[in-house]
Amino acid sequence: MAKRDYYEVLGVSKTASDDEIKKAYRKLAIKYHPDKNPGDKQAEESFKEAAEAYEVLSNQQKRQQYDRFGHAGMGGAAGGGGAYGGGMNMEDIFSQFGDIFGDGSPFGNMFGGGGGGGRRVRKGSDLRIKLKLNLEEVANGVEKKIKVKRHVTCKACTGNGAKNGTEVQGCQTCGGSGQVRRVQQTMLGQMVTTSTCPTCNGEGKMIKTRCEVCFGEGRVLEEEIIPIKIPAGVAEGMQLSMGGKGNVPPRGGVAGDLLIVIEEEPHEILHRDGNNVIYELYLNFADAALGTSVEVPTIGGKARISVEAGTQGGKILRLKGKGIKEINGYGTGDQLIHVNIWTPKTLSKEETDILEKLKNSPNFAPKPSKGEKSFFEKMKDFFN
Ligand SMILES: [Zn+2]
Ligand SMILES: [Zn+2]
Repeated sequence: MAKRDYYEVLGVSKTASDDEIKKAYRKLAIKYHPDKNPGDKQAEESFKEAAEAYEVLSNQQKRQQYDRFGHAGMGGAAGGGGAYGGGMNMEDIFSQFGDIFGDGSPFGNMFGGGGGGGRRVRKGSDLRIKLKLNLEEVANGVEKKIKVKRHVTCKACTGNGAKNGTEVQGCQTCGGSGQVRRVQQTMLGQMVTTSTCPTCNGEGKMIKTRCEVCFGEGRVLEEEIIPIKIPAGVAEGMQLSMGGKGNVPPRGGVAGDLLIVIEEEPHEILHRDGNNVIYELYLNFADAALGTSVEVPTIGGKARISVEAGTQGGKILRLKGKGIKEINGYGTGDQLIHVNIWTPKTLSKEETDILEKLKNSPNFAPKPSKGEKSFFEKMKDFFN
């Protein structure tokens, strides 16, 4: 199913301010909230769709990437239930709400973590990896399996850090709120300060006996092989993200994202220019004068092109559609072949004699045609 445009989902213009985006999302989140629409699958889908659009458009970096590359730039093709590919899960969505609704949440304490304290679901750190791709992989897209070391939920204690079967009790210092209040008498009168509870580090609960596998951390470092689909047409420095494939935070929460930064390996003989591929062809003078047929390398293998008799150096030939696919899926670049005439650097006695004889022949006198475009103008024509 094709994804709807995020701006369209939120009903805002492409130039909408952060505030407009927030307001639009707030409206939709209230309208489609599962509490208001129990059992309504359609409402749930709309709820998730809006959350996903907001997740991207409310983040400056993600929004820029979306504006440039569309859904493909969001790593939408990546598998594994990423926040963008497979839709966000409810936990992710509710964890956003702290930002959106603040304390005046219209949904009471259903995702507030109890006690009205509004403790939010914690998100783990993002992981960033670099991925080297050659020109073929960039042009056609590729599926890679990458090895990542990430913090995952400890299976032995299911992430709470307590030894199998032992209980987790509320913190006695703070009474489970994670915060301690201190009243001080100062010259200006009574002052109340609140700070994170030092006993439980703000978690509100205590472990009696630590899990022996993760030593109470609730997570373990694991090596994972993650398959990722890189869409055709990515470029150096581009960042794809896979939701939920980063680190899980200590003692439970939502995993961060896996960020994949693209690095392009330069090709030995083909040069990339946007979505076009440029090849410098060298022809000997005789072939250029007589016409010939030559094989040139392309991304997909070799291609044969014919060179007309009387071809000048500087001419640009085009192999249509032999370039790089547009990342949004609209069209493909071309391969441009820039013709150079090879001038020999050493000559035998016989070759010198022949050239001496030819050089004063009338046909050998240069006759540049009037109104001939410059090389740069010709290049411009090709790129437009
Ligand atoms: Zn505490
Ligand atoms: Zn554990």
